[in-house]
Amino acid sequence: MRWRPGRRALAEFIRHPLLDRIGVPHGFGVIDAAPPAGLLRVRQVHGIAVAIVDEEGVPSHDEADAVVSCQTQRPVGVMTADCVPILAAARDGSAVAAIHAGWRGLGAGVVEAGISALRVQCGGVHADLVAVIGPHIGASCYEVDAPVLDTLRARFGEAVDDASEPTRPGHRRLALGDLVALALGRAGVREGSVAMLAGACTSCDARRFHSYRRDGEHAGRLVHHISARAGR
Ligand SMILES: [Zn+2]
Repeated sequence: MRWRPGRRALAEFIRHPLLDRIGVPHGFGVIDAAPPAGLLRVRQVHGIAVAIVDEEGVPSHDEADAVVSCQTQRPVGVMTADCVPILAAARDGSAVAAIHAGWRGLGAGVVEAGISALRVQCGGVHADLVAVIGPHIGASCYEVDAPVLDTLRARFGEAVDDASEPTRPGHRRLALGDLVALALGRAGVREGSVAMLAGACTSCDARRFHSYRRDGEHAGRLVHHISARAGR
C-alpha cells in the first residue's frame, strides 16, 4: 500500500544528530509524515542492486534496494514496514544513500553493496562515511525460523547467534539492526560513525510506525529520505 497523498501531514520525520551534524537533509518516516517533494524511489525487490542517480536525476536501475545520489535538489528514499532503513552519507555531505534491508537483502549483501557504491560517488573516494539505522522491527517482536537464520549465517556466521535468542525449536528472536550494524562495519563504516535510533520498534509503536508483522498485508509503509548537502 502507498502513502496517501491526500492526507494531511500530521507528523514530523525523525532526524538524527549524526546526519544533522554534516548538514544533509534527511528524515526517517513515521505514520502520516508527508514525503518531500520530488522524492526519488525505485522498486524494491529484496535484492542487492544499487540505483545510482545521475546528474539529470535519473536512476541507473528501476529496481533496487539501495539508492545513491549526489543530488541536492532531489531527495532519494526507501519505504519500509519492519525491514531496516539505513540513511548514509559521505561526511562532507556530497554523496548520500538510502538502503532497504530485510533479512533477505541483508543476507544477500545489500548493505555492503550500497555502502561500496556510496564510497565512490560524486567525483571522489569517500573514506569517511556515516550511517544511521532507522525504525525497524525489534528483536522482542521478530521471531524467525531456520531458513531465515541459515540464510543470514551464510553471510554473518556465528554473529547471527550473538544477535538472536532461542525461542522454540528451530526459531530465534533476531535483532536485525545488530546485523545491519555489523554489515556497515564490514563495509568500512567506522564504529563511532554508525548509530541506531533507540526505542524505535515498528511493531511495538503503533502510534508512530507501520508494521507488516502487526498489521498484515494491508500495513502502510514508512518513507525515509535523504539528500546531498547544498552549498558545498
Ligand atoms: Zn517490538
